[in-house]
Amino acid sequence: MTTPRLIVHGGAGEWLNFDETVVQDGVRAAAAAGWSVLAAGGTALEAVEAATIKLEDHPLFDAGYGSFINQEGEVEMDALLCDGATLTFGSVAAVRRVKNPIILARLVMTRTPHHIFAGDGADQLAARLGLPIISNIELITEKEFAHYRSRHKDAPPRLGLGTGTVGAVAIDAAGNLASATSTGGTPDKPKGRIGDSPIYGAGGYARNRAGACSATGQGEHIMRVFLCKEAADRMQDLTAPEALTAAGAFMAGYIPNSDMGIIGIDWQGNLGAYHTTRAMPIAWVMGDGAVKTAMRWDGGAF
Ligand code: ASP
Repeated sequence: MTTPRLIVHGGAGEWLNFDETVVQDGVRAAAAAGWSVLAAGGTALEAVEAATIKLEDHPLFDAGYGSFINQEGEVEMDALLCDGATLTFGSVAAVRRVKNPIILARLVMTRTPHHIFAGDGADQLAARLGLPIISNIELITEKEFAHYRSRHKDAPPRLGLGTGTVGAVAIDAAGNLASATSTGGTPDKPKGRIGDSPIYGAGGYARNRAGACSATGQGEHIMRVFLCKEAADRMQDLTAPEALTAAGAFMAGYIPNSDMGIIGIDWQGNLGAYHTTRAMPIAWVMGDGAVKTAMRWDGGAF
């Protein structure tokens, strides 16, 4: 019997000019949602999905409602759900008409013989599987729309962005590991651009007896080193904090000065976080049910 634990993140970035209390309330609510699943005897997979839905629904984070708008003025979202118990995953890329891409990623995993759906085909699958289909505009917050308009009036780039891709990793009472990642991608991305988030092994990964990870940051860099697989593999022998730091150093060896972040949990239940950015809001639960939050990992133990 393992003590269930989980950790969530709200995206590696500057997070300047944000009310840190509001940001931490957002990740706290997500961790609490995930924890309530684990506390009721649910699986790690169900817990990370529940936590991610909360973050997707929160307007502050770059996932689901509140996603960054691309150059065409639309939201295109990516998500990945990884099951460490069965070594499988579901992934969606460039979806535009679902409220919660992480639910669609789960349906890809559980209801189709495939692993990745993209674009219109993914939205059509959502409709076939009974998910509500919404119009793209319903995903756009007023704040994001204002940013989009200012960008297209030759305004200087936005400052103080929190690049708020979201993620969650968990271990359940049976010792099963899972991870979830969801994003609207990078701000002002070209239509059709896909980052690391929906790429298995890059934006997320989970394998029992090793670890579960979720990444955030510059996707074009993260995917080159399969950051989450790299970190999780190291968790066979290292604790999560050690493995994440080692994977971060491995990445920096190829791509110095990249903006990146990652959370993880190893098979023994150790939690970890690592980021090169000024901030990465996190919330975690160690097994006593108390949700703790921070705007950044301070280098210490959880
Ligand atoms: N990794 C995401 C992407 O490249 C963005 C982020 O985490 O901020 O799409």
